[in-house]
Amino acid sequence: MPTPTSARRARRLIPLVAALVGSAVAAYWVRNLHTYRVPLTEALVPAAAIFACAYSAAREILAALCAETHRCRVSGCNFRVRLTRPDAVESRRWQEAAAAHPDHERYDRA
Ligand SMILES: [Zn+2]
Repeated sequence: MPTPTSARRARRLIPLVAALVGSAVAAYWVRNLHTYRVPLTEALVPAAAIFACAYSAAREILAALCAETHRCRVSGCNFRVRLTRPDAVESRRWQEAAAAHPDHERYDRA
């Protein structure tokens, strides 16, 4: 489990890493379009759209990986809380809430 300081550092790098992933994916597709002799000026619009999609996806995935998750410990209960930037007090409060929520049932993802 990452320490709070390392998790904070990792969260600061999320936009940069997501931008690198988005740029790499967009560059890959521009290169693919170039093999079909698509001019660079006409490849910029789809490249921008591909960059935006890849950036958003990478940012969401990385944020989910860096989030702090508290789960209910009752067997068969899928209740969980995901916090993106909690302080110690908030994290502890949600940890207690996840352990003592009123009904232990299966929570499907919406
Ligand atoms: Zn539960």
